[in-house]
Amino acid sequence: KPSGLILTARDVTERKRMEAAVQESSEKLHATFDAMQDGIFVSTLDGHILDSNEAAARLHGYASKEDLIGTNAIELVAEKDREKVTNYAMEAIKEGGFLDRFEYTVLKADGSEFDGEFTTVPLRNTSGDVVGWVSMTRDITERKRAERAIRESEEKLRTIFNSVRDGIIVVDLEGNFKEFNEATMAMTGYSKEELAGKSALDFILEEDRDKVIQDLSTTLTDKHTQSLTSYRLLAKGNKVFDAELSSGMMLDSEGNPTALIGVMRDITDRKQMEEKLVKAKEDLERSNRELEQFAYVASHDLQEPLRMVSSYLKLLERRSKDKLDTEAQEFVDFAVDGANRMAAMIQALLTYSRVGTRGKPFEPTDCEDILSKALSNLQVAIEEKDAVVTHDPLPTVLADDTQMLQLFQNLIGNGLKFQDNKRPEVHVSVEDQGENWVFSFCDNGIGIDPKYKDRIFVVFERLHGKGEYKGTGIGLAVCKKIVERHGGQIWVDSTPGEGATFSFTMPKERKESDNA
Ligand code: ADP
Repeated sequence: KPSGLILTARDVTERKRMEAAVQESSEKLHATFDAMQDGIFVSTLDGHILDSNEAAARLHGYASKEDLIGTNAIELVAEKDREKVTNYAMEAIKEGGFLDRFEYTVLKADGSEFDGEFTTVPLRNTSGDVVGWVSMTRDITERKRAERAIRESEEKLRTIFNSVRDGIIVVDLEGNFKEFNEATMAMTGYSKEELAGKSALDFILEEDRDKVIQDLSTTLTDKHTQSLTSYRLLAKGNKVFDAELSSGMMLDSEGNPTALIGVMRDITDRKQMEEKLVKAKEDLERSNRELEQFAYVASHDLQEPLRMVSSYLKLLERRSKDKLDTEAQEFVDFAVDGANRMAAMIQALLTYSRVGTRGKPFEPTDCEDILSKALSNLQVAIEEKDAVVTHDPLPTVLADDTQMLQLFQNLIGNGLKFQDNKRPEVHVSVEDQGENWVFSFCDNGIGIDPKYKDRIFVVFERLHGKGEYKGTGIGLAVCKKIVERHGGQIWVDSTPGEGATFSFTMPKERKESDNA
């Protein structure tokens, strides 16, 4: 029979306090885990998940961590990566190693996938054996996307770099080649290996070096300026080629220059073409000048013998009047007529060649004055035909006044001349077209078939026999030359039978044109 009770009492205050403390800190730990963005779970060696935080559940598409706990970690890995994960990761863990940021594809509960990485550390029991692991999973979709974007853009740049026809070179601040593209090799004739040891100055002609160094230092001081300059560069074997070089600065994040980028374009062909063009233009100008000179000299010198022919013919006519029979008399008349026409043509040719060689400088010229002078010169013809010449108010233009008078007189004169039996009417009008004045001379004469609209401006070209309308066929050629010397153009509009309108432009501001 029990005879009494022995009671032992132990003070457990300390233990209780410690238990509470542990409980509290464990809760704090869990709260911290749950607050983390990265998913954390604890698993046995064979992958059985024992504990996790809320982020791990969220990350893997589970409603709560309670749903995640109890599944196997391998189920959280996309099918295609499972072998990799078991082979490398699990094995490493069993051996007691740990894995830092191992990349793999995460499989979510709904079957979707994303890029992830995990860091895993082994869990050991008190005797030090590995019994499980703690894993931290992170969503790296964004990072992967950024990496891919960078890779793609680098690839794009590299493709452009190598496919452009311009040579692109990156040199350091001492001018040593750091990078260059294939076009640079093609342009310089050097191989990749040969170019690698070069300095930018190796390509510059000795005499240009100071200038290039000066240009480079300007680019360096004025950090953001893009300069474009032409140089003659040296290719392999001292072959010289013309290049257009634009350079820019590469700056670091603090804005200090780190390298120079140069883009060079081979412009040898363009240069040669330009030189050829300049030469062709000079040749043309010279041959034009020579031709004008020739026409002038020839017509001038032809006058003398012609005068002799004419005067002896006249002498013959006078002295032998009674001795010649009718036929011989007629022959002499033909010869005189021919000599007269030839004299007129030579005179016309002289006038024509003088437009270019004897022109005066351009001065402000009042076209009202010019018109009244022209009309007074044409007075006889106007009165004879009872013609009417009307006009708009006319401006003052910059011109050679003698040539303007020639121009007005020829055009009005033609308007009076090329008529049937009508009373001739000519109207002079002018239109302000901004940069140009457009003068028009409109008549009511016979008009011109449009198919001859270019031919009539050629020297000695006439559409009529000498019996029909008098003339040498040089008037319009002179007009064209005068208009062109003043930087304008001349043309005709006409309906045959109803009249013709000759128009020309006259620039308001100009220099004497090249062929002046
Ligand atoms: P010309 O007057 O000495 O014949 P031009 O060079 O002035 O020489 O004119 C060339 C040709 O253009 C003329 O022969 C004529 O056939 C034609 N032509 C010129 N002006 C007119 C006009 N106002 N109306 C019709 N035909 C014209």
